[in-house]
Amino acid sequence: MLIHGEKRDGDRQIEVLSPYNGELAGRVAKCDSSVIPEVMETAEKGARLMKNLPVEKRAEILRLASQKLIEQKEVFAEMLTKEVGKVIKDSRKEVERAANTLKLSADAAGGICGEVIPIEKAENETRIGFCKRVPVGIVLAVTPFNFPLNLACHKIGPAIAAGNSIIVKPASKTPITTMMLGELFIACGLPADALTVVCGSGEELGDALVSDPQIRKISFTGSYQAGDAICRRAGIKKITMELGSTGAVVVSEKMDMKIAARKICAAGFANAGQVCISVQRVYVHKSRKEELISEMKKYAESVVFGDPMDENTQLGPMISHDAVVNAARRIEKSIAMGAKLITGNVSEGNILYPTILADAPFDAPVVQEEMFAPVIVVNEYENLEEAIHLVNGTPYGLQAGILTDRIEEALLFAENVECGGVIINDTCNYRVDQMPYGGVKNSGMGKEGPGYAIKEMTELKMIVLNGKMQG
Ligand code: NAP
Repeated sequence: MLIHGEKRDGDRQIEVLSPYNGELAGRVAKCDSSVIPEVMETAEKGARLMKNLPVEKRAEILRLASQKLIEQKEVFAEMLTKEVGKVIKDSRKEVERAANTLKLSADAAGGICGEVIPIEKAENETRIGFCKRVPVGIVLAVTPFNFPLNLACHKIGPAIAAGNSIIVKPASKTPITTMMLGELFIACGLPADALTVVCGSGEELGDALVSDPQIRKISFTGSYQAGDAICRRAGIKKITMELGSTGAVVVSEKMDMKIAARKICAAGFANAGQVCISVQRVYVHKSRKEELISEMKKYAESVVFGDPMDENTQLGPMISHDAVVNAARRIEKSIAMGAKLITGNVSEGNILYPTILADAPFDAPVVQEEMFAPVIVVNEYENLEEAIHLVNGTPYGLQAGILTDRIEEALLFAENVECGGVIINDTCNYRVDQMPYGGVKNSGMGKEGPGYAIKEMTELKMIVLNGKMQG
């Protein structure tokens, strides 16, 4: 745990093992809910300090942290690869994105402002009304395993920019880069009590944190199941939920299927499919289905998989053996329900080969459930209305993409798809960190992207100024 600016060991530890070869990546203290009184007292002190820290100073700390992250890019990238199993090139990209997220947070800090509210004035009155954005106090961030660095920055950056203190509970499988990030912030001059990183079980420590009344804002990224449990336990506080999805892409009739296949496969197999906006479902016009599947099969079978530390590796392991088994079970069930296996569904250690299925029924797990694995299912559609109906046909709605040469198709799709974001002529996997990002339906509520997250981590305080008190 990182508290009062110092790393503290405990009696119990979480051993973090590489999902690729089981080697020890590192250890962190495993905390339980007995630490909560000290964590809360610290965060309260931190919140009082942060509220009074000038915005220029908060932005300066964020800029310095961004710069230091780039200076230490290789160290952070190697640890990401060790703890997540992410291929090294993608780990470097995550560090670059994390640094950019902090820079965006610094830029957004300077733009925090309020509004003037027109107030009816009686005769001889000099009354004005305005509101300003004020920090909420203590923010709690709970983060998932798949982008432990950048997603922590998406919460820490805006919390600091807004003048809050923050407690971070990272995923138990990947806590080390978050601890390293915490230490980096302290080295950059962040008041020690403003950031606490505490590791331990989501169901025990996490549950106790989310239900603590001193927390004013929860920023959660993770599965629908955990998000639902948190919402039920949280009580009255602000909540952002960045949850899962069944990312879909529609490929229209006239597209170049070779380019479409490359984009789709790259986006579906990145980070072994463990990306919230991974391409999981493809709906292609029925006249071109066979061609798209054949191009995707070629791509999938050429993917270089293996040691994520190797510069040439494109696909590394999934996070755990359980995750592989879970994906395989849902692939098998979908096949039993009528889906065709095109390629894959073979595993070696924690590596699941790039897997493509076709013609899955509407209620197959590979369509309805978040796979979070290198698995893509291709189904056909006849007209755009049907394609939109299919895209909307799962409980999730994070992002969707359409590849089309027709502007009217693109606009109809954008208007009618139930998603937080629509990407035209790219896959649902497109994201840059300044975007307002977040889903609808079971994909969650609220937005990330530093400028938007700052709004969610502040309150609007209304001030009415009566220039002259009258009897
Ligand atoms: P997860 O199992 O839901 O865990 C996420 C975090 O929640 C972990 O820190 C976990 O702690 C904690 N947690 C679990 N149960 C909890 C509870 N009852 N109360 C409080 N905290 C609890 O998710 P994951 O497997 O790490 O990550 C994959 C999921 O994240 C996918 O569904 C993916 O789509 C989603 N995701 C969404 C986005 C987005 O922006 N929308 C981005 C990335 C990932 P432990 O690790 O100790 O269990």
